Amino acid sequence: MFCPQCGFNNDQQSRHCSQCGAALQPPAAIQPPVPQYPAPPPQYPAPGAQPYYAPPPFQPGVPVILPPVPNYMTQAVLVTLFCCLPLGIVGIIRAGDVNKRLAANDYAGALAASKSARSILWWGFGSGLVIGIIYALVQFANVANH
Ligand SMILES: [Zn+2]
Repeated sequence: MFCPQCGFNNDQQSRHCSQCGAALQPPAAIQPPVPQYPAPPPQYPAPGAQPYYAPPPFQPGVPVILPPVPNYMTQAVLVTLFCCLPLGIVGIIRAGDVNKRLAANDYAGALAASKSARSILWWGFGSGLVIGIIYALVQFANVANH
């Protein structure tokens, strides 16, 4: 067998290395026996314990996804250009307010400003429509008179 100290190949039966004198041990005694532990018992949930499919507890701080708030900016510009300039400008101011409140995380305020902008723009659209019809009637009357 080989000496663990110097690596000299000694006779199988010798107890000491003939090269360096180190004690030789039979191979079975070199490795300490590995203690065998019994396998751990399988883990079952204790009776009455919370089942695995229980929903996770409510966590504050998880962001709630809210539906988007329309700001009616496009409609406000269209009303300003084609229907009613003062109401359209008020609509543009309200539409900008929606964006400002959304940026400030004021969802309720943004929703209120959005509704306000929508009603103002409907008034602007309606008045523009009425004025346009009256204007068209006047033009028609003028043409008919001449
Ligand atoms: Zn040796």
